[in-house]
Amino acid sequence: MATMGKFSLMNGNIVPTEEATVSVASSAVLYGLSVYSVFFGKHTPDGMLCFRIPDHIKRLQQSARMIGLTGTTQTLEKEPLVEEIKELIAMNKPTTDQFFRVTVHAVSEVAGVRTSDLDLVTSVFMYDAVNILPQDQAKLKTSLWRRTADTAIPARAKVNGAYVNSALAKQDAIDAGFDDCLFLNQNGYVSELSAANIFMIKRGELITPDCASDILEGITRRSIIELAEQKGMKICERKVALTEMYTADEVFACGTSAFVSPIVNIDGRIISDGTSGKYTNDLRQQLADAQADLTSDWTTLL
Ligand code: PMP
Repeated sequence: MATMGKFSLMNGNIVPTEEATVSVASSAVLYGLSVYSVFFGKHTPDGMLCFRIPDHIKRLQQSARMIGLTGTTQTLEKEPLVEEIKELIAMNKPTTDQFFRVTVHAVSEVAGVRTSDLDLVTSVFMYDAVNILPQDQAKLKTSLWRRTADTAIPARAKVNGAYVNSALAKQDAIDAGFDDCLFLNQNGYVSELSAANIFMIKRGELITPDCASDILEGITRRSIIELAEQKGMKICERKVALTEMYTADEVFACGTSAFVSPIVNIDGRIISDGTSGKYTNDLRQQLADAQADLTSDWTTLL
């Protein structure tokens, strides 16, 4: 378990983390009606260098809107939220890199199964940035559970309740001795991991499942694509078959909490020579450099 900050934010108020709670009768608890995002903060001598905060807040607003949690914009405006997070950091005084989890919870009690006109609370807590995937040689198992379809619970919306799908598949993978699951969608194409996107390299081309493959549109995924574009790489977002992954030159997963994780084994099949490849290593370094760049548009010093 990662160490959490002593203090958290509840609707803009800093409270001891143990008091940052929602009711057992809230729609958030009863039906998983909350949306969230997690962003990365790099600990530097000058403060916490946070990665792509505006993109995370925007996706959170879109997630809330997509599932019909109305009233969100009052609690989720960017400028006040960023100021509040700055105060939270000052209170918690972290000495290591951190993840920040921002959640909008539907807190109305026993409201029945609906999403609109519910009271909302925005919380933020922070915790030590511990990777969720090995950073050298990760192994994936294709899941028997399929990714929830866009027509069921959209993966594009980061809805807490939808993570039951991820938990089922990840637990199966761990029980079978793997690090994470690889989801296929209802059409049998590669989608993503439990909480990370996936890429492969074939003949120097960077290929990843497209946004209609029931994926979360990851902010790290977008960053990797933009960094690869800057390097002049050929990039393709399209449907991907599982066996293309088996025969790729390189495969890696990426996400805020996964960073860039080289995948060397899928379903017991060794990918290429079973080591982290050149493109993967380069892109991982580029991402790390971008996250440490004080002058970049992608970072905010808090
Ligand atoms: N897919 C899923 C299902 C996730 O939960 C995450 C983690 N947020 C990602 C992909 C990666 O998204 P991001 O790069 O925005 O963290």
